[in-house]
Amino acid sequence: MIKLTIIFLSIAVISASSGFGQVPSLDDWDVHDLDRPQPPIVSPRGHLTSSPPSDAIILFDGTNLEEWTHTNGAPATWVLTDGYMEVAPGSGTLQSKRSFGDVQLHIEWATPNSGTGQDSGNSGVYLMSTYEVQILNSYSNQTYPDGQAASLYGQYPPLVNASLPPLEWQSYDIIFRRPHFNDDGSLKRPAIVTVLHNGILVQDNIVLTGPTDHRSRPPYRLHDDKLPILLQDHNEPTRFRNIWVRDLENSSTTDG
Ligand code: MG
Repeated sequence: MIKLTIIFLSIAVISASSGFGQVPSLDDWDVHDLDRPQPPIVSPRGHLTSSPPSDAIILFDGTNLEEWTHTNGAPATWVLTDGYMEVAPGSGTLQSKRSFGDVQLHIEWATPNSGTGQDSGNSGVYLMSTYEVQILNSYSNQTYPDGQAASLYGQYPPLVNASLPPLEWQSYDIIFRRPHFNDDGSLKRPAIVTVLHNGILVQDNIVLTGPTDHRSRPPYRLHDDKLPILLQDHNEPTRFRNIWVRDLENSSTTDG
């Protein structure tokens, strides 16, 4: 009976938050609220890699770090080996040399088999250097739901937990529409994010409340229309491969 209740509750949570254009309410949940329901587990199947389409900009193909620097502009010093790059803990976050606004982003990642809670493979993809899709080992590793893998950190847990075990390659496919600002710097239109984790819809057209922060949800702050993508160094050796983007602000551009 308890199991049945949990299933019904889970279905209710999913239906309440997955409709097009609907914004799940944050009213009932404090930032990093441990009482927030854990998303139900869904097991991905099949292979998760994805070849870049003809108009993709390749940010990492496993052979070099030329598209990346550290955030201070220094050359990227993460470990490059066997077709992937790995965070050199403490070396610093990476940023793409190119800047983007609206994008479709594909990225594959694998967490180490170590640590617990927020210290198990923590990293993150920061769209526009500002809005984080969390990377974490969330396979048999519970944390606050708005900080688990595929959460929009500090704001929205994923609809389901589609995590694979540590050391296995996982993927995100992210569609990000940037915020727009008025001439006076006020917000005209918030950022909207959709995320597939291992091919499974986990964030459905979500309106972000503002920039990512820890233990707070700050309001939007004026920024450029295009900014680098960041990969977070959170002191754990998380791995990345096969990173590509399609620039949706110039989506008519194609090489056939
Ligand atoms: Mg993170």
